Parts: sequence; C-alpha cells; structure tokens
Amino acid sequence: MISGIKSKFPIFENHEKKGEKLIYLDNAATTQKPKQVIDSISDFYSNFNATVHRGIYELSEKATELYESTRDKVKDFINASDRNEIVFTSGATEGINFVAESWVLQHLKSGDEIVLTQAEHHANLVPWQRVAERIGAKIKFIELDTENFEFKEPGDNFFNENTKLVSLVHVSNVLGNIWKDGQLESIIKRSHDVGAKVLIDAAQSVPHYKVDVRKLDIDFLVFSGHKMFGPTGVGVLYVKKDLHNEVEPYKVGGSMVYSVTFDKTTWQQAPNKFEAGTPAIAQVVGLGATIDFINENINFDDLRNHEEKLCVQMFESLKSIDGIKILGNKSSLMCCGHLITFTIDGVHAHDVASMLGTKGVCVRAGHHCAQPLLNLFNVESTVRASLYAYNTEEDIETFIRELNEVVEEFKSM
Ligand code: PMP
Repeated sequence: MISGIKSKFPIFENHEKKGEKLIYLDNAATTQKPKQVIDSISDFYSNFNATVHRGIYELSEKATELYESTRDKVKDFINASDRNEIVFTSGATEGINFVAESWVLQHLKSGDEIVLTQAEHHANLVPWQRVAERIGAKIKFIELDTENFEFKEPGDNFFNENTKLVSLVHVSNVLGNIWKDGQLESIIKRSHDVGAKVLIDAAQSVPHYKVDVRKLDIDFLVFSGHKMFGPTGVGVLYVKKDLHNEVEPYKVGGSMVYSVTFDKTTWQQAPNKFEAGTPAIAQVVGLGATIDFINENINFDDLRNHEEKLCVQMFESLKSIDGIKILGNKSSLMCCGHLITFTIDGVHAHDVASMLGTKGVCVRAGHHCAQPLLNLFNVESTVRASLYAYNTEEDIETFIRELNEVVEEFKSM
C-alpha cells in the first residue's frame, strides 16, 4: 500500500466497523473515493451551490471559480498547453461519442478510414461503428498477436491518404499495457504523417501513469474521473487547440451560445461551445479535489512500483492454480501491470466472481465490454482482478486463498 493511503478511504473503515470484509479488486471498473473528494462534493452543496457562468451574484461567482479551477488543475495534470483544451464530459464514453458525432461526422466522407485496435473497449468501438455506417467510412483494426498479447506492426500501406482518424486504447481494461516500447509513439507519428487525427482512450492509463498529452503529441484524449478516485458522472475530453475551430459542438442549447435569434445561433469560443446546458458542477468540483488528492498523495513512480509488486505477487500465486489461463503478456504484466484477467478450466468466471463476492472479495467477471477482443481468444467470459493504490499484499493473499477454496469447491462437485 502507498504509505497510509487506505485510511483516507472511509469505505474500508466503515466495512471493518460493521465486521464486513472488503477486498476491493475491481478498480478497472471504478475506484473507491477518499474522504477529501467526498467532502468536497458535500462542501460544495452545503456552502457554494449555484449555477456557473451566468450568475452575477457572489455565490455563483464562487461556484464558477471552483468549477473553472478544476479546468486549470486538469490542464496541469495532463500537461495540456491551454486551459481551453479541457472539456468536461460525463466520462470517457461521452468524450468518444463527442468526437464521433462532431468532428468525424463533419469531416469524414464515404471511403475514409478510421483506425482502431482489436483491443478496444466497446466505448471506443461502437460510436465509430455507428458513425462509419452513416457516412460509409471504413473501420480498420491494428491486429493483436493472440499468442504473445502484443500488437502486430501495421504494414506499409496501412496508414494512407484515406486514414482520417486513429483512435487507440492506451492501456487495455482486459490485457493491461500491450504496446511495445515506442510502438504507440510510432503509430501516432505514422497517423500524423498521412494527415490523420489521433484520439487516445486513456480511461485505464490516466489513473495509473503520468500521461502527458504534449509528449504523446495527440489531438484528442478522453478519461473518466471515477476510475481515478473521483466522482462518477464527470470526465475529460482534451481537444488540441489547433482543432478548436474545426470541432463542432456535440450538444447544443443553453450556456454555449454567443447570440441567438429566431433564425440563427452563433457559438462561444471553446471550451464553452463544447459544454451546453448546466454542467455536472459538483462532480467537476469533486474532480478538482481528486486531482489535489493525487498531487498530494500519489507519486506516479511509487504507484507503478506498488502496482507492479502486487501484480507480480498475483501472477506468481495464480499460475500455480490448476487449469488457469492468464490473458496478458507476462513480461508486460510484470513490469507495468495494474490488472490480471484469467479463466480457470471447468469453473465459470461468473461462479468465481459471485462466490468470491460472498467472501467479501470484489473482482469482475464477464466480457469487460470487450466482446470482440475476448472472441479472439475464444472465451466469452473471464475473471479480472484490478489494483489501485490502497490495495495491499494482504488483499492479494486473501484473494488467492479464497480463490483456491472456490476452485477446490467447484472441482469437487
Ligand atoms: N475505455 C476503457 C479502456 C475503459 O476501461 C472504460 C471503462 N471500463 C471506458 C473506456 C469507458 O469509461 P466510462 O464507462 O467511464 O465512460
């Protein structure tokens, strides 16, 4: 555990007080919230609640200040060059839908190509399928080598003058980190060389790694607050400044307009033109508190060491279970993992997760919103145990002990 951090999350103490065990290993789905973040939301509603941007009274000005201060914090957090590059969304899913329904719909035509990988979460597949069908665009996939869980190198003409948008998972929610050293950077460069824009789905990377949009040299990036200790209902879409004039608003209505007549409406500048309606103010304030919490408590190098250590512990213990198959590249899990996905011959993933659940161990079972990826491995359902800063070696010991018992029980039936 990152020193002392678990005590900052009330859910663990509350369960302990009730005599209930809570081994939480479903962090790739959502994470627990520290008191600092929970309090920030309660504090906002208790002391500063008003709408933002429009009120010309002190309370609204204060609410606006709190809301807008999160934009500055996010800008620094992902090293954007301008605070106006930060757009608040409801989460990674909305951010991708945003780019599909605005930029892609406006700029792509029949015959153009959208590039994804075979390891995408449905959130980074379904929106492109829908928009591609409407405009007659083609979707191409960077293929995964199912033997060693690494992406194959796309051929020479894979990126060409038809490639317009390349949208890539940064870290997979099923396999962990699957990009070989330098491979993602080279694909971003090849995409830009043919004039394509690049979107990175950072839902599983921003919580665990230091992500730098300028270093990555990308055009769009999305992530969700709830996977990094923050509230649900808020996320971020980074839109590179150079593109602000060519990205249409996704939603239109109040707050984002410059002038409206019965005949015509003009928009404000970004980011306002991208945030129609009353936003999720309290959640955005909570996201600001989340970034403060991370800045004060998490050193990303320490977090990496911590998660890697637990990943190795998990891997070494899991591999002795009879009939286990781990989906993931061993060396990459050992060096930079935060989750392990597996199947056990003769025991259904849902039975494993529900039996573990009765013992206070929370892991995920299912297709993890990545059905096409699991189909590549001919499996419908897997178990996934995913880590975060508050997990401990004892959590892993308990998980493995209980898992062994579950497997024994099923195999003796
Ligand atoms: N991409 C990846 C890789 C994810 O893991 C998830 C969430 N499981 C998403 C996108 C979608 O995130 P959200 O549901 O918060 O919008």
